[in-house]
Amino acid sequence: MSFFSTPIEFLKGVGPSKADVLKKELKIFTYNDLLRHYPFRYIDRTRFYLISEITPDMPYIQVKGVLISKQVIGDARRKRLSAIFQDERGGTIELVWFQGVKFVEKTIVVGKEYIVFGKPNFFNNKPSLPHPELELVAEAKKEFQTALQPVYSSTEKLKAFFLDSRGIMRLQNNLLEQALPHITENMPSAVVERYKMLPRVHALAQIHFPTSPKLLQRAQARLKFEEFFFIQLRLLFNKKVNKRLHNGNVFSTVGNHFNGFYKDHLPFELTNAQKRVLKEIRLDTISGMQMNRLLQGDVGSGKTVVALMSMLLAIDNGFQACLMAPTEILATQHYNSIAQLLQHFDLEVGLLTGSTKIKQRRIIHEKLENGELKILIGTHALIEDKVKFNNLGLVIIDEQHRFGVEQRAKLWKKNVRPPHVLVMTATPIPRTLAMTLYGDLDVSVIDELPAGRKPIQTMHKFDSSRLRLFGFLKEEIAKGRQVYIVYPLIDESEKMDYKNLMDGFESISRAFPPPEYRLSIVHGKMKPADKDAEMERFKRGETQIMVATTVIEVGVNVPNASVMVIENAERFGLAQLHQLRGRVGRGAEQSYCILMSGNKLSSDGKIRLDAMVRTNDGFEISEMDLKLRGPGDLEGTQQSGVLDLHIADLAKDQAILAEARVCVEGLLADDPELMKPSNRTVRNYFEQRGVKTISLEKIS
Ligand code: ADP
Ligand code: MG
Repeated sequence: MSFFSTPIEFLKGVGPSKADVLKKELKIFTYNDLLRHYPFRYIDRTRFYLISEITPDMPYIQVKGVLISKQVIGDARRKRLSAIFQDERGGTIELVWFQGVKFVEKTIVVGKEYIVFGKPNFFNNKPSLPHPELELVAEAKKEFQTALQPVYSSTEKLKAFFLDSRGIMRLQNNLLEQALPHITENMPSAVVERYKMLPRVHALAQIHFPTSPKLLQRAQARLKFEEFFFIQLRLLFNKKVNKRLHNGNVFSTVGNHFNGFYKDHLPFELTNAQKRVLKEIRLDTISGMQMNRLLQGDVGSGKTVVALMSMLLAIDNGFQACLMAPTEILATQHYNSIAQLLQHFDLEVGLLTGSTKIKQRRIIHEKLENGELKILIGTHALIEDKVKFNNLGLVIIDEQHRFGVEQRAKLWKKNVRPPHVLVMTATPIPRTLAMTLYGDLDVSVIDELPAGRKPIQTMHKFDSSRLRLFGFLKEEIAKGRQVYIVYPLIDESEKMDYKNLMDGFESISRAFPPPEYRLSIVHGKMKPADKDAEMERFKRGETQIMVATTVIEVGVNVPNASVMVIENAERFGLAQLHQLRGRVGRGAEQSYCILMSGNKLSSDGKIRLDAMVRTNDGFEISEMDLKLRGPGDLEGTQQSGVLDLHIADLAKDQAILAEARVCVEGLLADDPELMKPSNRTVRNYFEQRGVKTISLEKIS
């Protein structure tokens, strides 16, 4: 057991009950966990303010002076403690407590000299300090001091055990005293030199107890780099291991299926981006190693046909292929578009979802096992153990972020030699997130939309211009176009949203009466079969307006629909808005996306709508989404380790991440097994941390 994995209860000042709350509240189990509980802010302890200097924009201040009075005010129900504090120039400020009144009242002594910390609050131009921290000047002189005092996150429960920020600071001090001799460098010295990095031991000491702002900044930079470095090392190391462990099926020929489709059945010219991606896939599949590739492309960039042609390549080489989608609607949509693309082609396509009838299921199972069925499309149902392939050569996963690593691994195991894997994402992912979420995959990007598409025009309108909106929709419908009107439904069970949708539908019905207009409605409370029937009617052009909740978010393809109206647009996230917008602009006509909102907008809401109006670029939108929401809310981040970041910030520290990635790539190119003596530091640290190399044999 290393020093750093020592259980936290062994630390001086901790004991069993404190250890218990530290575990429960902050997930601090070991010395290492505590060391990595970094401060989130620092207070400049060298600066004492005069009370007359205090202004509302000051985040946190300290004042030195004397307590001149204290008084409990109010009745038993609404008690508060009010104390007057005076500095050496005679300025006074009120200190207030609403909680722990009795306790505080007993501990503070009128006439004594204190240092007071707090966040000023202004009322009628007069400052006060609610719930300040008080420290006797005499005590402060005795206790260990640092110029920049760390502030640690704590909780009410921890505070009850005297583990407020200062309590945690004391523990950190105890720990560091013991830990310093054990802290060893974990970066190769060449890297430390190249980036003029603070040595690790200094960085850890400085991050908790900085001696100057400059050193603090260097400590932060180094620790951020280190965090990204080891995530990247794990990803890239695993990628190498997997490549070595898994020989790939070799798709040596481009045969009749691929060529025949390309020459005779492809309804359009491929974009250069599509061609480039197909080439990348082709190179992977003849390399002799297993392909693990991520295909990124904005909505409407034409990923489906790339998927299909890759499958044809597998079939040309005697293999089967499957495509897995996260929802039944999406799987069915893929099935339909692929079946249509192959309609004049002698090739059977199967669809397997949760609602496939038992009899049909049996037939599919049988045809898969004997190899008759070459292409299978479906949902999670594909992963079930009962589904056995004759010779699965290629797996395509649409919208990867809803599938975990383990699910991917299950598909790999469906063949003796694992199939090639192509992962497609429906929403672009910021570059840095892709590096971490999919750092173990090679990346292809379709960065070009098919020719002849007119960029979608996006507008933001307030609810007051609804009449004009209806007029505009009528003009579009008169031109033969179709319209989506989408309502938010954050949770399918939310009654208010449902009522909203129904009220909306009613007023739309009044404004667009039959027989001239025909409307469809689709929402989460409908049976799947009814939903499908409505969608089909809209697709066939039998209805002109589709009123819906976000069920249409993914996958729906109706090229004749040219207007997307989004109601209460301020309530949608950016990624969702962009997905919805992607439902139009699929044909040759000018398309519109109209974002409706009330007059009152939160500042984030306004930023989102403005961004939508300004750009059609999914990558730009995703970068902004990451900045606004943080990585925790983005799908797929849970399993990725990015939430284990203690100091680095995926949205703010993108440059550091990119640098760390390049650094790791260089390291592994030079020394793939990290066997060189100069890399021993890295290797030791990597192994010590029990960094699992995810060899797939171990996952099942
Ligand atoms: P996504 O990348 O969002 O999955 P799709 O594969 O659904 O996009 O393609 C969107 C639409 O564009 C489909 O109607 C498809 O037939 C069409 N399409 C794809 N590639 C091209 C191309 N090279 N030229 C013209 N239309 C294309
Ligand atoms: Mg798609």
